[in-house]
Amino acid sequence: MTSPLKFIRQDVQSMHAYAIQDSKGFIKLDAMENPFALPAEMQTALGERLGKVAINRYPGSRIEDLKTALCSYAQVPVSHGLMLGNGSDELISLLAMACDVQNAKILAPLPGFVMYAMSAQLQGLQFIGVDLTKDFELDEAAMLAAIAQEKPAITYLAYPNNPTANLWDAAIIRKIIAACAAYGGMVVMDEAYQPFSPSSWMDEIKAHPAENANVLLMRTMSKFGLAGVRLGYMTGPEALINEIDKLRPPYNISVLNAECALFALENSEQFKAQAGMITAQRAMLLEALTKIPGFKPFPSQANMILVRVPDSDAMFRPAQSPRHPREKRLEDACSA
Ligand SMILES: *Cc1c(COP(=O)(O)O)cnc(C)c1O
Repeated sequence: MTSPLKFIRQDVQSMHAYAIQDSKGFIKLDAMENPFALPAEMQTALGERLGKVAINRYPGSRIEDLKTALCSYAQVPVSHGLMLGNGSDELISLLAMACDVQNAKILAPLPGFVMYAMSAQLQGLQFIGVDLTKDFELDEAAMLAAIAQEKPAITYLAYPNNPTANLWDAAIIRKIIAACAAYGGMVVMDEAYQPFSPSSWMDEIKAHPAENANVLLMRTMSKFGLAGVRLGYMTGPEALINEIDKLRPPYNISVLNAECALFALENSEQFKAQAGMITAQRAMLLEALTKIPGFKPFPSQANMILVRVPDSDAMFRPAQSPRHPREKRLEDACSA
């Protein structure tokens, strides 16, 4: 018998599967999730609501309700459309699929979010990575040169960036958007960390719609506090969103995702308060990290802090010692 594996793409067979580390016995911080659980009374209220959802039916009008609620929550301009993804990861995949015209390329600064390169690779598009400066700012000259030479279909800018946690210089971003607009390239502003950030590109889009006509803005409810729910959304000029939305599997958002997300938006004050606590703790942690000899923490506008350490390999190696009681208390406090 000939193995059916011969019909599985060779590049896929050579890939490593996305590894999810076992966090048992550790304080789980590696996926930038919200550490807070729902308060008990909200758990009960959500349970009751989910119990009433018509799970025998394909997702219907509740999806439209959710889109309306998101447009209002994110204050999406009327000229813009909004589409939903099963997490923004799905939107990133759909974008690669949508832009798979001959010689299309995807460009993003490095280090950056792994899915940009992965989506290009899986779709057979070339990925162009452009290094950030040594302080993790956008390298204006290198970015503009790469854009001029490669004319990428999509340039991704995470705002704030993952894993560097910073907001890049708005003046440089404007130049990148203009450089892409000149040949019809799209710029995707990925605002996964918007709940922790002092600014959003949405304000720029509203203030200068013509200059941002090639900009798509992507957000997710994951870092907000619903990583398990899987809900991302993308807004942009309606005509553009309508085309990309055609690639979306028709029922990509389950009725349970939609109901959970609606519930969270109705209770957004709760999540806003949690984000407030995280940003307050961020300042304290940053301050404490600067006091450790040899550590260089970088400013953060997200829910993580990038730190340069003397020996990152040694630091990464899992600790063999039993957990310190203080860690346990911190974990209990977070899950309370
Ligand atoms: C976490 C993250 C995402 C993916 O979010 P999901 O909605 O959970 O798929 C996208 N972009 C960036 C920059 C992220 O950090």
